[in-house]
Amino acid sequence: MGAGGIMKKKEILYWLDPDRDPAPLFDMADKVRREAVGDGVHLRGLIEFSNICRRRCYYCGIRAGSPGVRRYRLSAEEILACARTAARLGYGTVVMQSGEDPAWGPAALIPVIEAIKKETGLAVTLSVGEHSKEDYRALRSAGADRFLLRFETSDRRLFSLLKPDSDYDNRFRCLAWLKEAGFQVGSGVMAGLPGQTRESMADDILLFKELDLDMVGIGPFIASPDTPMAGAECGTLDAALRMVALTRAVTRDAHIPATTAMGSVDPLGRQKALRCGANVLMPNISPTEHRPDYRLYPGKICTDEAPERCAACVESMLAGLGRRRAEGQGHSLKGGK
Ligand code: SAH
Repeated sequence: MGAGGIMKKKEILYWLDPDRDPAPLFDMADKVRREAVGDGVHLRGLIEFSNICRRRCYYCGIRAGSPGVRRYRLSAEEILACARTAARLGYGTVVMQSGEDPAWGPAALIPVIEAIKKETGLAVTLSVGEHSKEDYRALRSAGADRFLLRFETSDRRLFSLLKPDSDYDNRFRCLAWLKEAGFQVGSGVMAGLPGQTRESMADDILLFKELDLDMVGIGPFIASPDTPMAGAECGTLDAALRMVALTRAVTRDAHIPATTAMGSVDPLGRQKALRCGANVLMPNISPTEHRPDYRLYPGKICTDEAPERCAACVESMLAGLGRRRAEGQGHSLKGGK
């Protein structure tokens, strides 16, 4: 296994085999992480600002029409207050994530992005789904720095089964438009989706490289009640960790978060991810009262904690791992960004 060389699909498939001891892979990924991005861990404060969504993705607990979801949307002032909290806690970035809420379209987001940039100077990441090329341009001009849009799976058939009102080609077109607009672009997938083959997971990883992503987010699929996938078999932490490690090996310098979904399937999930390739944490800074309502999947962690508690928890996690907070805002490590 060449830590420096480009991994071939055959080798990726070898390490995705759940019967194979992953320890050598994880050690190699940890080494690549140390060499390529260092020991610093970037903290991105996550603001879940609306759980209202026009889409009906089969896996998602806040899909349109899902019964029993108490819908909320934060006001501009509430979002700004979260950003102030992020600045106070010393985070370099705020990530604004929501469902595809028609009331929080680009026109409404622009003044909020401008206000956050002006008042806090923080890096702003958006995770607000599919929009037009022009809208992405406008969001970038308003000052947003980064955009996260997972393609969820490289398997076209599985994608259309899971996202009946989205189009596979459009999702990738959006990623290209985001890049053209000058965003640092993140994408990613869920690991262990029902019907997802190891072959397609290897393709996911090769696609991360091909798309030259600045950020890659991976988490285990967790079946949500009240969705068409209720009762389905969930993804394992092991599969998600193998994908993180392989993504580190293949992309080398992408920013890779230890995701909330990993921490939700195993209390040490995020720590394990930080030891096999991950270099980012996304502590929640959403208002505590709404957190239980942004339930993409059951068992989501940090839903009853104040932002300060999450910050303290993250600090002790880093101390326990012998890591530290990274300096600066954690922009892309790729040239010219
Ligand atoms: N509406 C935005 C943000 C989506 S939420 C968008 O579509 O891009 C962020 C991510 O949560 C999704 O991209 C998906 O990968 C993940 N997610 C949603 N439901 C999940 C589930 N049941 N299990 C694990 N991850 C899930």
